[in-house]
Amino acid sequence: MEVSKSSLKCILFIAKFINSFYNSKINLNIFKGVILIILSIKNLDITFRTNAGNIHAIRGVNFDLPRGKTVALVGESGSGKSVTMKAVTGLLDSNCIINSGNIFYNFNGQTVDLLTFSKKDLRQKINGQQIAMVFQDPMTSLNPTMTIGAQIMEGMLLHKKISTSDAEKKAVELLNLVGIIDAEKRIKNYPHQLSGGMRQRVVIAIALSCEAKILICDEPTTALDVTIQAKILNLIKDIQSQMNLSVIYITHDLGVVAKVADFVNVMYAGKIIETGTVDEIFYDPRHPYTWGLLSAMPDLETDDDRLYSIPGSPPNLLHEPTGDAFAARNKFAMKIDEKAAPPMFKISETHYAATWLLHPDAPKIELPPELKARLERSRKAADL
Ligand code: ADP
Ligand code: MG
Repeated sequence: MEVSKSSLKCILFIAKFINSFYNSKINLNIFKGVILIILSIKNLDITFRTNAGNIHAIRGVNFDLPRGKTVALVGESGSGKSVTMKAVTGLLDSNCIINSGNIFYNFNGQTVDLLTFSKKDLRQKINGQQIAMVFQDPMTSLNPTMTIGAQIMEGMLLHKKISTSDAEKKAVELLNLVGIIDAEKRIKNYPHQLSGGMRQRVVIAIALSCEAKILICDEPTTALDVTIQAKILNLIKDIQSQMNLSVIYITHDLGVVAKVADFVNVMYAGKIIETGTVDEIFYDPRHPYTWGLLSAMPDLETDDDRLYSIPGSPPNLLHEPTGDAFAARNKFAMKIDEKAAPPMFKISETHYAATWLLHPDAPKIELPPELKARLERSRKAADL
């Protein structure tokens, strides 16, 4: 179908208007394929070859990143969060096999599939300039033998037509933006002369230096103490709204998710098992694994002890699970959970969960009462 430029502009204007009207309750399906989805992962399926056998680490992952929003990927260690994101930036280890999938990216107005890009093309055209990553340990991203100024300028000098003195000015601006005091002096420092929190700020400055559209943060505050963690989270949020960045935020900590995310994808054993807006996941969770994660976090208001920790451990993906991979740890599991993996059941336009408990014929299971009381308390506190 041919669409004229003016009607496209009109559609975009209406879409933006509706988007701002609904804010986080945006209906993703309406906007798919227009412009508001900047990255769309479809049916991503990845195996690793190892001496012990094949590990089916990612088992059909789907999700969208709306432009200017933050999508969190949350789940226990080993659930497949980092591998999913490494597939986007071509950083997967060489023993991987990509069984299927597409990673659609809106590249200057054209939709491209990043899985068809060579590692070289990803390095030259995408990484840093379009999609930047911040990892848990800043020292893995920083070069100990170069000043931080030189490291912030490196990408700009390589990819942008910019003079050294302009790049230096921009480096100082970026250090100011990420809250480093005395930026003119600090650009001459080496990484070892900075604290852990400051190093992570520098890594964020490097990530922003080439004006990437997407920032992927992989547990960026896990190695930092709690007060520094809160500062870095606020920094990422501020920068995101100032620069209209789209952010994918990986964490095992739902407390962090509550602070940063618009949308949440809960991962378990290489699959997304619940997806929704942050309100849907925190106030109306439907998957028993999400109940377990919510119960296992300390109370946000009172800093109380955890209600509960999920018994057992995730399955070993060397052996393909038959049925629902969560069944062995799920006290609400039914016979069907042992036989067949549940599909995603729809709860709302933005909220889906893969649990047989949502099948119309399943017994009605209520949220565990302690968790229900806790969620009601936090909802009241949030409404005040
Ligand atoms: P997390 O959710 O903690 O980020 P990962 O995405 O790093 O988890 O890992 C998901 C699964 O993939 C884990 O079981 C991990 O052991 C496995 N995995 C990751 N990289 C490799 C590799 N190079 N070879 C074999 N298994 C791997
Ligand atoms: Mg990880």
